[in-house]
Amino acid sequence: DSLHKHPPPACYGGRHTVTLIPGDGIGPEFMNHVRDVFRHAHVPVDFEEFHLSGDPEAEETIENALIAVRRNGVALKGNIHTDLSELVPQKEKTKNVALRVNLDVFANIIHCKTIPGVKTRHDDVDIVIIRENTEGEYSSLEHENVSGVVESLKIITRQRSERIARYAFDFARQNGRKKVTAIHKANIMKLGDGLFLNTCREVAKSYPEIEFDDMIVDNTCMQIVSNPWQFDVMLLPNLYGNIVGNIAAGLVGGPGIVPGKNVGEDYAVFETATRNTGKNIAGKNMANPSAMFLASALMLDHIGLQQHAQVIRDATYKTISEKQIHTPDLGGLHTTRDVVQSVIDEIENTKHSVRL
Ligand code: ADP
Ligand code: MG
Repeated sequence: DSLHKHPPPACYGGRHTVTLIPGDGIGPEFMNHVRDVFRHAHVPVDFEEFHLSGDPEAEETIENALIAVRRNGVALKGNIHTDLSELVPQKEKTKNVALRVNLDVFANIIHCKTIPGVKTRHDDVDIVIIRENTEGEYSSLEHENVSGVVESLKIITRQRSERIARYAFDFARQNGRKKVTAIHKANIMKLGDGLFLNTCREVAKSYPEIEFDDMIVDNTCMQIVSNPWQFDVMLLPNLYGNIVGNIAAGLVGGPGIVPGKNVGEDYAVFETATRNTGKNIAGKNMANPSAMFLASALMLDHIGLQQHAQVIRDATYKTISEKQIHTPDLGGLHTTRDVVQSVIDEIENTKHSVRL
């Protein structure tokens, strides 16, 4: 990530080590496909795998995974299932949140851009969602001091609001984006969202060439589905970022094709934009692996393997756009295997010309 300095990712003898956290549901099968694709693209990456799972019997601990990500600097990750059948206060945060918070990957970035050949309601959508990834409603501070009365704390700090706002404006500046829109509900949460909004306003003053405006989150949800073209970079606190990010991903084709990244000062974690477990489609040869291929390409960009990243990205987009190999999430009848095979075929067709 060019916006922050990272320690050099682990690289021995020209090979990089990346932590792989397959997660639950469709995660493990996707990671096998990523391995296949990397092998065909001659990607000089070795994976160090950690089987974190929402299954209480899971043996791998989050501590071990954290040590590995801290050593390698980079992770590729599936989503870890959170059991909703027994909703009791946990001693620990949900594993997905614990990873993000402990690694302090404070910015979640998803780029929701229309892909040619994917039928959606609106054409030419191009929105970057930048979400605060560590505080807000995800503080996991809840208690029930009086039976039937729950207090659920949402934490907003000036320091973290400023950090994410600076990230968003720096991103806009470095990527030729013209406008940043802060999303909030400061009309109701006057102190909390008020602090977020005022901090964004303050930061905006240092970026006079970038237009700044703000919008209340409920109106945002309406506006983004009716007139998505008004948005350029959106800057959001944690929960609104989750929700609006899912709407934006849905607008350009859904969970199967949009990748996401989480970055901080020191580490980066790559995953699909909408972080789904996909338990209902796991093992059915129907999940769309494209988002994970594109996430793996973002990861390769991050560690300086841009050529390999580009070959994988081109192969994935060609499969979707030109060859129309569409799984059911895109309205097609193709299988996961069909997508994987096509991506591999395209890599085989191009890899010699770029000498990978
Ligand atoms: P969560 O883990 O947040 O509950 P789900 O796993 O239920 O999310 O995913 C939401 C929906 O998106 C489900 O219907 C799931 O089948 C679908 N979905 C998620 N990922 C993919 C994918 N890669 N390809 C196709 N459909 C997907
Ligand atoms: Mg679900």
